[in-house]
Amino acid sequence: MTPERVGGLPTKRLEGLGGWGRFPTSDNVAVRPEKFRQLQPVGASSLARGMGRSYGDAALNSEGTLVLTERLDRLLEFDPESGVLRAEAGATLADVLAAMVPRGWFVPVTPGTKFCSLGGCLAADVHGKNHHRDGTFSAHVAAAEVVLANGERVVCSPDDGSELFWATAGGMGLTGIVSEVALRLTPIETATMRVRHTVARDLDETIGLLTDPAHDARYTVAWLDCLASGARLGRGVYMAGEHARPEELPLRIEDPLRLAPKRPKPFPFDLPGWALNPVTIRAFNAVYNWVQGRRREFLCPYEAFFYPLDGIHGWNRMYGKRGFVQYQYVLPTATARQGTKEILELLSRERKASFLAVLKRFGPEGPGFLSFPMEGLTLALDIPFSEGLERFLDGLDEIVVAHGGRVYLAKDSRMSAQTFRAGYPRLGEFLEVKAAVDPEGRFGSDLSRRLGIGR
Ligand SMILES: Cc1cc2nc3c(=O)[nH]c(=O)nc-3n(C[C@H](O)[C@H](O)[C@H](O)COP(=O)(O)OP(=O)(O)OC[C@H]3O[C@@H](n4cnc5c(N)ncnc54)[C@H](O)[C@@H]3O)c2cc1C
Repeated sequence: MTPERVGGLPTKRLEGLGGWGRFPTSDNVAVRPEKFRQLQPVGASSLARGMGRSYGDAALNSEGTLVLTERLDRLLEFDPESGVLRAEAGATLADVLAAMVPRGWFVPVTPGTKFCSLGGCLAADVHGKNHHRDGTFSAHVAAAEVVLANGERVVCSPDDGSELFWATAGGMGLTGIVSEVALRLTPIETATMRVRHTVARDLDETIGLLTDPAHDARYTVAWLDCLASGARLGRGVYMAGEHARPEELPLRIEDPLRLAPKRPKPFPFDLPGWALNPVTIRAFNAVYNWVQGRRREFLCPYEAFFYPLDGIHGWNRMYGKRGFVQYQYVLPTATARQGTKEILELLSRERKASFLAVLKRFGPEGPGFLSFPMEGLTLALDIPFSEGLERFLDGLDEIVVAHGGRVYLAKDSRMSAQTFRAGYPRLGEFLEVKAAVDPEGRFGSDLSRRLGIGR
């Protein structure tokens, strides 16, 4: 039986709730504070949920209560001198961009969707295409306010309360509820990106482009055709982008900081499970490789460069009701090439097609105890469900662990506690802070219980 109220707030039952990958799902009870002062842990086990853009079970709490932050989304204060924006943690990157791009400011780090909350970005310590230059999201957070298990509101920052700050950045909501974030924005002169595409014939060329200073840019990423095999293993298109300067734009553009608004097109129904299979994905990869490889240097709106998938609302329905698995790992520089080669060979050999495969270079590791990035290469794969997928992914985990890497918590739905512990050597430091600020284990999630991080 779902209680009618928890912590004085009316509850809502969310049956079969999932993350963005729609796997796994669980029945959850949620409260949705409408006022800032109502943002509190409730019941014996609580978890903040932002926009539900993590893929697996990080934002599920089937044994407790979800605290939805979506109504606490005000932008509070902006200081043009320092570029620091103070906002409630339920505000999304889309909210920030809509308000700030026309004023000449951009978010300092962005994942591949703008429909993420600021709290979710700090809790996952997200990275973007500029990680090798600018680090993770937390590197640009001047301070954050966290509501702790005892209801106390504490402001922490890299200089003051740094233990709590670095446990919260990447801590997946397990230290408390982030209620406010002060974020240092990046100045821009236009809303347009100058982009360069370069075709890479194999993995060595792709990695060469990602790591060669002569080809570097602020934002870089490589799309891989993960079904290519043999001599073409790891072929792809390297994409490098910079914020364009006003003099690079066509003269007819009146205001370089304004883009014509575009309505996202909805993806209207679930595709049947068989629609995405190695044959259709191979065809997509071949066409994509051809189209993107033909484009060399061009200008495009920032939305098209950073958020190509946001243009289709609910694109995750393309994978059908069974959902899909996002698998993202990082390997340190020394083993990244060999490990990635082994993973691509396994994908190709077992015909486990990935609709999108994105390879990215990471810069130095940050101080977040459970932050994902480390210096090296990261690959993100979208794999639809098929026979034997679990066993196959366990095989990928083995390669990742053997090469000293780790799997990303914000994308994970199935790794074992053992794989997790092998990849996150600072877990002990995280647990010490958690024990100090949450001694009764009031913050927990389906992910934390699966991985043995907390109740
Ligand atoms: C299309 C797509 C592309 C993506 N690309 C990238 C990428 O390039 N790089 C990257 O790093 N990630 C990427 N992601 C993952 C995404 O950025 C993260 O999962 C992010 O955390 C989602 O934010 P959210 O508000 O939806 O959080 P949710 O999914 O709702 O929650 C994620 C975690 O954050 C916690 N949390 C949320 N709000 C708060 C809060 N206020 N206080 C404390 N904890 C909180 C939750 O408890 C949960 O553990 C992508 C996701 C999608 C769907």
